[in-house]
Order: sequence, then structure tokens, then C-alpha cells
Amino acid sequence: MTVSADPHTDFPADFRGTVLRPGDERYDSARVLYQGRAADEGPALIARCADEDDVATVLRHASAHGIPVAVRGGGHGSDGYAMPGGALVVDLSEMKAITVDPETGVVRAQPGVLLGELDAATQEHGLAVPAGTVSSTGVAGLTLGGGIGHLMRRFGATVDNLLACEMVAMDGRRVRADEAENPELFWALRGGGGNFGVVTAFEYRAHPLGPDVVAGQLIFPFDQAGDVLAKLPAHMADAPRELGLLASIAPAPALPMLPPEAHGKPVLVLVPVYTGDLALADEVIESLAALGWPVANLVAKTPWLKANSMLDAIAPYGKRMNLRGGYLPDLSADTVDALLRHAATAPSNPGAASVINLWSMGGAISEDVAEDATAFSREGAAWLWEAVSMWDGPEQDAQYEESAKHITEAMRPHALAAGYTNLTDDLGEAWRRGVHGSEAKHRRLRAVKAAWDPANLLRFNKNIAPTTAE
Ligand SMILES: Cc1cc2nc3c(=O)[nH]c(=O)nc-3n(C[C@H](O)[C@H](O)[C@H](O)COP(=O)(O)OP(=O)(O)OC[C@H]3O[C@@H](n4cnc5c(N)ncnc54)[C@H](O)[C@@H]3O)c2cc1C
Repeated sequence: MTVSADPHTDFPADFRGTVLRPGDERYDSARVLYQGRAADEGPALIARCADEDDVATVLRHASAHGIPVAVRGGGHGSDGYAMPGGALVVDLSEMKAITVDPETGVVRAQPGVLLGELDAATQEHGLAVPAGTVSSTGVAGLTLGGGIGHLMRRFGATVDNLLACEMVAMDGRRVRADEAENPELFWALRGGGGNFGVVTAFEYRAHPLGPDVVAGQLIFPFDQAGDVLAKLPAHMADAPRELGLLASIAPAPALPMLPPEAHGKPVLVLVPVYTGDLALADEVIESLAALGWPVANLVAKTPWLKANSMLDAIAPYGKRMNLRGGYLPDLSADTVDALLRHAATAPSNPGAASVINLWSMGGAISEDVAEDATAFSREGAAWLWEAVSMWDGPEQDAQYEESAKHITEAMRPHALAAGYTNLTDDLGEAWRRGVHGSEAKHRRLRAVKAAWDPANLLRFNKNIAPTTAE
């Protein structure tokens, strides 16, 4: 075997998709990711795959030459691992087929599918797959990490609705993973991220939903945020599973009902998405609004497709960004204080934004699936917190990194060791050990990694080191 670390020179001739190298016409547009900082350095070669055979060709080539491989699904990963500098990239963005079986509710999606496309295809049949909340996010990375969103209290995480994966292994073999076939791999793929092979199709159980739901924003002045957040846990403990809730501390939009001096300053925004009996919606939303005195109530009956893309407006593509997050066992007064203090002091530069999100867990995601049933962890998590910063220029990187460090330290005493890998940047070795919930789960994931990617060629991810590596 010739050993070469240079994927430029000897890339397999039978690859049928598009090969893009620095200087090629479409190279720069192909490497654009949601994370703007990824543009600072380009990969050595982007192998834009046409199909599973192309994926197998690249993986066989990488394995034969010991070349590490990055994987691009939807391109939303906050770490920018989909296009690392100098790397060989398996780009799946053109593998976009979706099939929906309206009889069985089984939906099959290729890994280039984005959430907006999945929602549009399933809603044609009055169905929805429980997934995320911004339509440019990819199904692939989201599913492999776990998948949370407006429907999680009603139907669980995305992985709780995953029936099977088709995967190309590092030696080019095509395998299926479900409860019966390769069950250990299937367990690991439900939360262990892109560590084990390249997934070329996901099969989901969809649920009847919509077309209309009740959704929008309740905006509270910042000085009410502490009181409203203090009342939320008791409120959500009694709320129906059909109510999804995000509480966001975000810069105020320029709405006429807000005084001009408040625009751009932090406010508390409750974002309910109620998917139950529409006749009960007023009561559900009014009791939420009654937790304080909102200055704006923008909640209304709206199509699910609009409700599940309303956050697109605050998620612009291509900004420089960082993301920190984790699980909270409760919303204690100290936790809320730490979050509000951070929100009040976070940098606020023109064109930039710092947002803190609190997602209410509970219901199906917390109660219906045992902690050890999937690699994705959820035990003891009542809330998921995340702090997102987005800015434009590299000269502001240090300021926002400092701010992210500050919130990470401030939240550490309040958070669980377990967390959701997709809604935070990688926080290092100790964090990776605890993030799946227990030492036993971490060991189990390492054993699966050793079985499927012993050379750790898939290392541009929240990496699980193979057991044999030590
Ligand atoms: C604005 C924004 C909103 C978000 N909202 C939500 C949300 O509501 N709910 C939620 O759960 N998450 C959310 N996320 C997080 C999201 O789940 C992750 O960023 C996820 O990694 C995105 O997947 P992707 O395919 O788009 O990203 P990519 O960057 O393409 O992939 C991320 C990683 O996944 C792996 N990967 C991707 N495809 C494959 C594959 N086919 N086979 C093997 N490995 C693969 C690779 O390691 C890759 O580096 C959000 C992120 C952002 C930036």
C-alpha cells in the first residue's frame, strides 16, 4: 500500500461526484458554513458525493492512506468541523432525497436534507418529524447528536423517533443499523455524533401535526425577567406536553410598543409553540402571559411551517459565532441570577448579538425513554441552557471568546455534567467524558468507536477516542 497524506494527488478516478480543490471555481462557495469563522482556513479537498458509492470510494481511499476525514451534512455545526483547514471533506450536501410514506408515517431522508425541506415534505401529508427549530440546520448532524426542538415535550428527541440509519463504514461497506441489525451501532448513532461512519440515510417515525399550531412571542421587559423565570419551572411542570417553550434573553426588536431606548437592549422573550387542541390554546397562552406583564403578545394561530422557521430571523448564516450550553436540573434563583447578570454585561456591538436560550425539557423527552436506551443523555435535565454570540469581524473574536468563557464558568456550578453535544462548542476532554451521562456510557461509546473506526479517521467532531487508542 502506498502511504500518502496528500489527497490532492491520488484521489480515486472512479469518484463520480464533484471534486473541489483550492482555486476551483466552486470551491469557495462550497466551503461556506453557518459558522463564519470556518472561512478563515479552507480544506484541501471537498469530495461532493453524488451517492453512497461515492461515499464508499472516499472512505476506502481515506482508510487505505490513513487520511482523517471531515463530514459535511447541513453545515450548521458551531465548531466548523465540517470544513477544517487542510482536511479531506466528505460533502453530502447534494444527497437530498426525501420519501414520506403517508400510510406508515415512515420518512426517509438523505444527509444533505435541511430541516426546512424535511418539514415541507412531511407537511404535505400532515406529518412532522420532531427535530430542530432553524430551517437551514441539517438533519444529519442534528440527528446524530440527539435533536431537540418545539416538539420534544410531546414526541421526544429526534433520536427517539429514529427507526434506522444506513451507514457507509470506514472500509466502504454499506450497513444498516436499527434495533435488530447492528443494535449496538444504532445505540451509539443516537447521540454519539459522527464518530462511527458516514450515515447516508435516516429513517424516522413522523407524527400527525398541523397544518396550524399556535405560536409566537411574549415579550417581557428585562426588569420582569427574574420574576417570570422564577415562576416558569412550576408552570411548565403542570403544562401540557403539547406546549413547547423556549425562554430567550435577547436584544429587543425595534417594535413600536417598546420605547426606542429599549431597542437592542436585553428583554425576556417567551416563545411558546402549542400543537394541541386549538380550542384550548387561548387558555394555555394566557396562563403563560400571566406570569408577568408582557409589553407585546405576538402569539397567534400560524401554520407549523411558519412556526418552525420563526427563529430563522435571529439565526443569520455565515456570522462568526460561539456557542456554550448544557443541562440544568432546575432554574434556581442563583442560576437565574447568573444568567441575567451575564445578559446584562455581554458585549453588544453593532451587527452583533448575544442571546441566552432556556429550553423547557420535561414530557416525552424526559419521561418516555430510559437514559441508557440511547447515547443521547437527558436524565435529570429540566432545562437546557445555551448562550449564542454572533459577530462580524475577527477583531472581535477575543471579546466574544472571553464572554463565552465567562458564561461557561458562571454556569458550571449550576449545570449537570451531562449535556447536549450539539448545542455547545466542544469543551474538551473532561467534558466529553461526562457529556453522555455516565462513565459507563462513555466506555460503551468508546468500544463502539473502536469497532467501527479504530484508527479514529473520523476525528473532526466531538470526538470519542477508540478504546484501543490508549
Ligand atoms: C442556528 C442554529 C440553530 C440550531 N438549532 C438547533 C435546534 O433547534 N435543535 C437541535 O437539536 N440542534 C440545533 N442546532 C445544533 C445542530 O443540531 C448542530 O449544529 C448539528 O451538528 C447540525 O448538523 P448539520 O448536519 O447541519 O451540521 P454539519 O456541520 O454539517 O455537521 C456537524 C457534524 O456532524 C457530523 N456529521 C454530519 N453529517 C454526518 C453524516 N451524514 N454522517 C456522519 N457524521 C455526520 C460531522 O461530525 C459534522 O462535523 C442549531 C445550530 C445552529 C447553528
